[in-house]
Amino acid sequence: MVLGWREILMIVVVVAILLYSRNFRLLGVKKSLGIDPITPEDETRVGKSWLSEIAEKQKVQTEQDPRVTTIMEAFHRVAQLRFDRYQVFRLESSEINAMALPGAHLLITRSLINLPDLSDDQLAGILAHEIAHVELGHTRNAVIQKNRSEALKSLLSVISRGPAKSVLMLDQLANLGISRKTELEADEFAIQLLSRAGYSPMGLITFLERTKPMEGLPEWLTFFSTHPAIDERIQKLNQKLSL
Ligand SMILES: [Zn+2]
Repeated sequence: MVLGWREILMIVVVVAILLYSRNFRLLGVKKSLGIDPITPEDETRVGKSWLSEIAEKQKVQTEQDPRVTTIMEAFHRVAQLRFDRYQVFRLESSEINAMALPGAHLLITRSLINLPDLSDDQLAGILAHEIAHVELGHTRNAVIQKNRSEALKSLLSVISRGPAKSVLMLDQLANLGISRKTELEADEFAIQLLSRAGYSPMGLITFLERTKPMEGLPEWLTFFSTHPAIDERIQKLNQKLSL
C-alpha cells in the first residue's frame, strides 16, 4: 500500500499531538510535584568534590580553631541544625574570606581567623552568615541553577586568583547565585541564630563596619565580592535589631 500525502500528514499530526501531550504531562507533573533534580546526597558529593579540587590548589586543614568549634557547638545547642552534617575547614590562604560550599562544607581562611582583635561575636557572625547560606538552600540552589563545572571553575578561580583579576571575580561570583537578596536573607537568619546562641548580632555589623575602610584593597576583594552591598547590609541589620 502506498500512503498518500493526506495519510502521511495525518500520521505526522497524530504523532506530534501524542509527543506534545506526553511532554506536557511530564512537565506538568514535574512542576506540580516540585521534583528536585538534586538530592542531599548529591549535594554532599558535589561539595566534597569541590573541596578536593580546592585542596589541590591550596592547603585545606580539617583541624579547626577552638573558637570555631565552641561557636558551632553553641549554634547546635539552640537550633535544629543538622550539626553532624556540618564540617568547617580552614583554608591556608592569605585572603580574608569565608564561604559555604554545597553539602554544608564551610571554609574559613587562616587570615580571617588570625585577624587581630577578631572578637567571638564577630567570628560567630561570620559563621552564622555562612550557615544561613546552607540552611536557606543558597549553596544548593547554586548547584541546581548553574552548570556545576562552571560554578566550580568560578570558585577555583577565586581561590587561586591574583589581585589583578579581582574585578573579574565580581561577575564570576554573581554566577554562583550569590545576590543582594540572598545576602540580606542570610543576614536575617544569622541574627536570629546569633541571638539564640547568646552572641551579640552586633558582631556581624561591627565586622562589616570594620572591613569597610579596606574595601579598596585587592586582597580584601574576595570577601567583598561574595558579600556585596556592605552599606545596605549594615543598614538592614540595624533596622532588624532596633525592632
Ligand atoms: Zn554571604
